[in-house]
Amino acid sequence: MKIAIAGFGALGARLGVMLQKSGHEVTGIDGWPAHIAAINTNGLTVIKDNQAPKKYFVPVMSVSEVATAGHFDLIIFLTKTPQLDRMLNDIEPIIDRHTKLLVLSNGLGNIEVMAKHVIRDQIIAGVTLWTSSLVKPGEIHITGSGSIKLQALDGSDVQFIADALNQAGLNAEITPDVMTAIWHKAGINAVLNPLSVLLNANIAEFGTAGNAMDMALGILNEMKQVGASQGIKVDIQAIMDDLSRLLKPENAGNHYPSMYQDIQNGKRTEIDFLNGYFSTIGRQEQISTPFNDIVTKMIHAKEDIERAKIAKKHENFEI
Ligand code: NAD
Repeated sequence: MKIAIAGFGALGARLGVMLQKSGHEVTGIDGWPAHIAAINTNGLTVIKDNQAPKKYFVPVMSVSEVATAGHFDLIIFLTKTPQLDRMLNDIEPIIDRHTKLLVLSNGLGNIEVMAKHVIRDQIIAGVTLWTSSLVKPGEIHITGSGSIKLQALDGSDVQFIADALNQAGLNAEITPDVMTAIWHKAGINAVLNPLSVLLNANIAEFGTAGNAMDMALGILNEMKQVGASQGIKVDIQAIMDDLSRLLKPENAGNHYPSMYQDIQNGKRTEIDFLNGYFSTIGRQEQISTPFNDIVTKMIHAKEDIERAKIAKKHENFEI
């Protein structure tokens, strides 16, 4: 299958290598010049579980080059959620009527963004538990394994896409209710991501806070009401069970969630597609969401503060 990965960052690169190794024709699409140059010149360096680095040569093109790339059977979207809209604009020339579009970015609202650009029957909604960290241009660090759940928005049969992903060992499964899985993961992220930033704590440290679960429930109870207004059944107990497991010292390790790393790097976060999404829909549906409102505002304040600090240090940093 001819596959493009739109957003060849940490996770896109990991999945891209797996798909290429299994025989698919894979092209990365990205907009970060140093990253593209590093991969196209020296290959993508992948370090798994602190073993010796391996190099993989997956071609990556910039968005300005896509016009000549021809047809892709499948495009997998792995930008950060706030970047999805622009990516869809940028790669419009390669989206034809027969291209399937699988979105695996975290958070809520991706489908609405996709539907602004393409016909619904081309969209496949997904959620993934694969992970990866991008440590410098052209180098990712990976550990463990993951899975993917997916479902075509129009309910059509996309088993051939799951088969293609499984050929690469991606543990893909068609689910009859992908939105429940997407909201479930968004619930976990809406707790761990912003609270690690606001408490300046990694996951293990967050787990030692006596009121960690109270704070989680503050966020999740509001999420449940908002979900119900959208026809989504949020299973708070299932999310709390996953959180309890993740917070156990033997599972949590010294891992900082991606929002913490985004703040440190002066990037805009995915908060508007997690807690901010609950606030926005809550306002529309007249559901009060004070916990998520304040968390969202504080994360935006933190983004501004850290970006101003970085801008002060580096003259060229675009704020
Ligand atoms: P990332 O920032 O490492 O990668 C995103 C890439 O997209 C970047 O390389 C960026 O240059 C590129 N990009 C964004 N907009 C672009 C545009 N308009 N044109 C060209 N390139 C563009 O992010 P990531 O960690 O790989 O995460 C991607 C998504 O997957 C996020 O929604 C994240 O929450 C989710 N996710 C990540 C992990 C993980 O472990 N990294 C795990 C599960 C889910």
